[in-house]
Amino acid sequence: MPDIQIPNSVIVALQIFLAFAAAFMIALWVSMIIWTFRDVRSRSRDVFAILLATLMVVVFGPLGLLLYLLLRPRETLAEIYERSLEEEALLQDLEERAVCPGCRRKIETEWQVCPDCHTILKKTCLNCGQLLHLRWNICPYCASPAVDLTGHDDHRHDEYVEEEVPVEEVREAEPSPPNTEAF
Ligand SMILES: [Zn+2]
Ligand SMILES: [Zn+2]
Repeated sequence: MPDIQIPNSVIVALQIFLAFAAAFMIALWVSMIIWTFRDVRSRSRDVFAILLATLMVVVFGPLGLLLYLLLRPRETLAEIYERSLEEEALLQDLEERAVCPGCRRKIETEWQVCPDCHTILKKTCLNCGQLLHLRWNICPYCASPAVDLTGHDDHRHDEYVEEEVPVEEVREAEPSPPNTEAF
């Protein structure tokens, strides 16, 4: 082996370069760990899963990160929450879009009568003119009694509803319980 003389300055420069490279690698490693920890925490509440994912990157570094990216939950918790809100809003929209209890066609909430089968859908308050549900015996807008509109003296809405449509169908279209006892 020939004795190769390496200038001292080259060795120092090499050492400095290696030190920087090592420092950068460590910083990169730590950054990956922190990123993974934050990312998995935004996607899972499971402490075990959070620990496992973070540990995977601590031990395997870039390879662990690759594994984590393959295995991580597709949606973040915030996205899941948002989606559930949207679904709820959609459901509410569907519920509010009522159907005629007589002919099952779609009806608008402001309609008083079904244009297809002439089933009476709403009544108007004699005092303020607002649209009221058939089963309401008091106007929620002006608090005046609405029983006189039914043409009955008794307050039981079931008997009144039977005149228009079968009770079963009305209950399907209007899932809220009758509240005639409250007044
Ligand atoms: Zn109808
Ligand atoms: Zn009224």
